[in-house]
Amino acid sequence: MPDTNAALVLAEEERESLLPPWDRQIFACRDLSLRQVDWIGFDMDYTLLRYHTEAIEQLSYEVALQKLVEMGYPEALLGLRYDPQRAIRGVLVDKELGHLLQMDRHRRVGVAYHGHRRLTPAECAPYHAERLSVSSSARFYLVDTIFSIPEACLFCDLVEWVETQGLPNFSTWEVMFEDVRRAVDRMHAEGHMHRAVISDVDRYLCYEPEVGQVLQRFRASGKKLFLLTNSGWEYTQHVMGYLLGNKDPLDLGWQNLFDMIVVSAGKPSFFVEDRPFVWLDRQGQPLSSQELPVDGPCRAVGGSLQQMNDLFGVVGERILYVGDHLYGDVLSPKKRSNWRTMWIFEELEEELRVLRMLAAELEEREHLWAEQRLLESERSYQLLLFERLRQERTMLGPAGGSILEERICGVQDRIAQLQQEERAHNKRLRELDARIAHPFNPHWGMRFREQREYSYMAEQMRGYACLYASRVSNFLFYPPVQFFHAPQPPLPHEQALQLPLHAPGQEGVRG
Ligand SMILES: [Mg+2]
Repeated sequence: MPDTNAALVLAEEERESLLPPWDRQIFACRDLSLRQVDWIGFDMDYTLLRYHTEAIEQLSYEVALQKLVEMGYPEALLGLRYDPQRAIRGVLVDKELGHLLQMDRHRRVGVAYHGHRRLTPAECAPYHAERLSVSSSARFYLVDTIFSIPEACLFCDLVEWVETQGLPNFSTWEVMFEDVRRAVDRMHAEGHMHRAVISDVDRYLCYEPEVGQVLQRFRASGKKLFLLTNSGWEYTQHVMGYLLGNKDPLDLGWQNLFDMIVVSAGKPSFFVEDRPFVWLDRQGQPLSSQELPVDGPCRAVGGSLQQMNDLFGVVGERILYVGDHLYGDVLSPKKRSNWRTMWIFEELEEELRVLRMLAAELEEREHLWAEQRLLESERSYQLLLFERLRQERTMLGPAGGSILEERICGVQDRIAQLQQEERAHNKRLRELDARIAHPFNPHWGMRFREQREYSYMAEQMRGYACLYASRVSNFLFYPPVQFFHAPQPPLPHEQALQLPLHAPGQEGVRG
């Protein structure tokens, strides 16, 4: 007799080994079937290639600080220490006032800092006088890549320095922020970061052979693949050789995983301007003929979306592009083309880990919100009842109206009692909110929520990213024909029958 229990246990173990772990899932904001995708494109930095975040951010912060000192800032600043918690992806730098802000999807500022000091609600109030124009205003700078977090932290530390110790020659917050940006640009232009990574790859790069497996699997299923990166040829060759060529920076075999390799793409301009591709040979040297190469992968510098469409004639909807930069990799292709998009957000694993750890608190908050709605609903009913009784008293006149006095007083007492209960309830909710927010980030809380609303970044993601996940290698947990379904939550009016206006069991006002 076969042991059916053992077989069931084995089947369950097999299922668990194949299905995605809870923190490695791919999530959909818009339905997407991989069957309908012919081409899959990838950004390189922080997408195919993951960095050891702590080491690379620390380096970025320290080198940018050195550049600032070279630009005339005091040497004493070199004593500043990098605290990566000071900024998260999605915060906005207000260059005019020197603040860092977290907004919800309605552009309402919830949390804001000036240096290390949290602004009071009264100090945030001026932001609510009119809708903040984020994308079109030079006043704001959105921290939308991991790449930008060290410079936002550095600006925050400099603001604190100015406010506590003063800075010679300080003029405006805007000038100081532009100095930080120039220091960061200079650091990259002079090749500091690339040189440091290449000289100590194991320190800065995550070796993740599963990425190569994902690419091979897609190729075997008939997909065409392309790499579209802003990095230059030399760096791309070096780090892709490390990641996909078994840690050998001289390995050229990784190129055969792609049908097209575009370096120095200049995103987001790639999606806007019409520039020709400059074709390269296997070593990255320009080809003598600038005709489209006919065999092997096409390698190029520059180019544009327009040129790509003209050369390959691929229908936009049949291209999926995967990248980590919310503006350059997700929003720009979505606005300029029909490309499907996938956002890589590596902090998602930490976000999910904390969500799981706080499951009991989050459930308690759901209960408190539900109770709060019932209290509000009951108060609405009592207010309507109060209005009705007063109208009846007026109609009955002084003689007849007096019989309603006792009831009216009772309703007034009930309203006062409900207000008191709501205040106590709100206090419990605020305390619980603070307990929930702290483990995500002690200064900013959750990345995807600003209190009960979606954060501005979450809303951008919902609007422009078809899929999102923490890593490219999460594709290994799905067949290459996967249909990713986006949840379709009901609209408020569709929920009307599930959420009664008034609490059940209360006396109706309809008499
Ligand atoms: Mg990138």
